[in-house]
Amino acid sequence: MKQYETVIGLEVHVELATKTKIFCGCKTDFGAAPNTHVCPVCTGMPGALPVLNRKVAELALRAGLALNCRINQICKFDRKNYFYPDNPQNYQISQLYLPICHDGYVEIPAGEGKKRIGIHEIHMEEDAGKLVHDDWSDSTLVDYNRSGVPLIEIVSEPDMRTADEVIAYLEKLQAAMQYLGVSDCRLQEGSMRADVNLSVREIGNPQYGTRTEMKNLNSFKAIAHAIEGERERQIELLEEGQKVVQETRRWDENKEASHAMRSKEDAKDYRYFPDPDLPPVYISDEWIARVRAEQPELKEEKEARYQEEYGLNGYDAGLLTNERALAELFEATIAAGAPPKKAANWLTGETQRLLKEQEQEVSTIRFSAAHLAALIELVEQGVIQSQTAKEVFAAVFSDDVDPEEYVRAHGLGIENDESALEKAVQGILLANPKAAGELKEGKEKVMGFLMGQTMRALKGKANPEKVREMIWSLVKE
Ligand code: ADP
Ligand code: MG
Ligand code: ZN
Repeated sequence: MKQYETVIGLEVHVELATKTKIFCGCKTDFGAAPNTHVCPVCTGMPGALPVLNRKVAELALRAGLALNCRINQICKFDRKNYFYPDNPQNYQISQLYLPICHDGYVEIPAGEGKKRIGIHEIHMEEDAGKLVHDDWSDSTLVDYNRSGVPLIEIVSEPDMRTADEVIAYLEKLQAAMQYLGVSDCRLQEGSMRADVNLSVREIGNPQYGTRTEMKNLNSFKAIAHAIEGERERQIELLEEGQKVVQETRRWDENKEASHAMRSKEDAKDYRYFPDPDLPPVYISDEWIARVRAEQPELKEEKEARYQEEYGLNGYDAGLLTNERALAELFEATIAAGAPPKKAANWLTGETQRLLKEQEQEVSTIRFSAAHLAALIELVEQGVIQSQTAKEVFAAVFSDDVDPEEYVRAHGLGIENDESALEKAVQGILLANPKAAGELKEGKEKVMGFLMGQTMRALKGKANPEKVREMIWSLVKE
């Protein structure tokens, strides 16, 4: 068999985190009762006129600048004409001729180094409504709440070669959009949707093969499966001397197979033309400069800074910055006085373990930076030992308790902790065999010395009577 290379380009739709829709004042809130967030504009009533939501252009600009794009300072909207019941105007307002951003790139890790994935363009457009298939009544209903929700479409160059690269690219986009406050980018909830364009070619062939486009991919796992499945399907066709047909295919994750949805249309099929109801959007130098100046520190910058400034390893720095919320919690914990490495340990260790155990995500974390910092302080001061700290942290994690109060209420301080005391005394006796021997022989004079050593090891957090008893009982053993 010949050797083949997979060529992949992505079209990624990202729902923008605006309060209102792109061309009207309707709310974008998710999960409202069907057809309650609608008006004449977003249901395509005759005579209704769209007005661009300035925030949409602002967020698209933010995304484009972060993805190293060039900006079309005069950009326009075009109508993409087609009929579908979820599209009440019979056209979608999108951008074909002059998209807001073009010619950018992102860098993904590749082996030791980095690989650049080109971004062809980013354009603004409106989302369609949602068809709800009701098996019970064997009918299809339509909900226009999503109609007119703002999207950007990020179109990559066909620069990816493997599923790993695709996932790395999507993770990069996700992190950037979340950090920028552009979108929460959740695949499962549809606030990020990735269509995979894939072709194969014989290794060494400079020409790309014919591609197909796969839709309905709502997890990284589905994306990886779909890429593997489609690569094999295309190679099989070519090996049999057949041709790949350019078409849109729907991936069925349950069956782990795809089927043809429709033959691929070209731009000309949609009879695109400039939308006569919307004036061109002018993006001034000042606007760009302001958005640039407001750009927050992004994942890569934070990741590098955490390693440099706090001496974290690459793995921890990566984990802490995967999601903006976790990075913010980390920074707030430091601001509350915790040593950075200790804060990092709790957030990459126990926090991750408990999240996994309880099938939760970073976004559901309830505890405050102040309480994590207080817990770290209790350990640092020797008020509790590390095993107890885990127990206290579990309560902080689940109920955001005040660790100091919790330790007091539950008698968890080291002065009440038999095993901590035993361990400390054992250590002192081992380190001072001469004194231990003398005590055993009845020389009580050394008791004061051993007690002092133990108290020091426990940072004074122990009951002297108990220390004395423990030393006696261990010396006699
Ligand atoms: P269209 O506008 O018809 O959808 P584009 O040329 O804009 O087509 O490309 C859409 C997506 O398909 C882009 O992400 C691009 O990188 C990708 N793509 C284009 N040609 C190929 C190919 N031969 N193999 C894989 N992906 C491709
Ligand atoms: Mg396209
Ligand atoms: Zn509306």
